[in-house]
Amino acid sequence: MMGLRKTILIVEDEPTSMEAMAAYFEIENYRVICATDGEEMSRALDRHLVNLIILDLRLPGKDGLTLLRELRSKSDLPVIVVSSRSDEIDHIVALEIGADDYLDKPVNLRELLVRAHNILRRCAGQRSAMHENGTARIEFDGWELDADARSLTDHRGADIHLTGAEFDLLHHLLRRAGSVLSREQLLEGLGEHSWSLNDRTIDVLVRRLRSKIECDPKRPRMIQTVRGIGYVCRAGQKRSA
Ligand code: CA
Repeated sequence: MMGLRKTILIVEDEPTSMEAMAAYFEIENYRVICATDGEEMSRALDRHLVNLIILDLRLPGKDGLTLLRELRSKSDLPVIVVSSRSDEIDHIVALEIGADDYLDKPVNLRELLVRAHNILRRCAGQRSAMHENGTARIEFDGWELDADARSLTDHRGADIHLTGAEFDLLHHLLRRAGSVLSREQLLEGLGEHSWSLNDRTIDVLVRRLRSKIECDPKRPRMIQTVRGIGYVCRAGQKRSA
């Protein structure tokens, strides 16, 4: 997985502990995002493609176990729980709710790193060797499109179903992000589907895509209309190498 920097979200309200963990992971070339409570955590998950969460149990507002339970109702994102509570019950409950691992505080940073690394490697293995060449993946605004697997996952890791033509159109738009494309150019990008499509069907496909990927399909941000010409993809693009 060379070149793919993993993103770790640390949810921790104690500055000293947060700084120690963040600095350690950054030195090891992870991208680190910090949150001090549940609200910041869900905002971070909305905005970033997170690979693993390190979650403290004792937090202001909703506690870590509650946050973990809420997360598990919608996502399989790996979570390592850290806690100063020496209570065995919390340990067991956390694992029952679906934590991938558990470490007592004060955290041994070296041990935390090794566990995080192992969990991420296991997850990468589960997501199959299709990603090995790397070039097939396009990340945008917390979403990820995999051209080999022909899959689209949202920022929570949930699979979004697209038809073949919707997928090809989105892929074409993302590859040409920032360029204004006419309906004819978009049709050409649809390859095998183009025989059955015309200019109007591009509009229909765009409308369907927007309903699946835009927060507000009426005011699209990722796929914008350019009057009299066609469309432009404004998804913040960062291609995995
Ligand atoms: Ca705490």
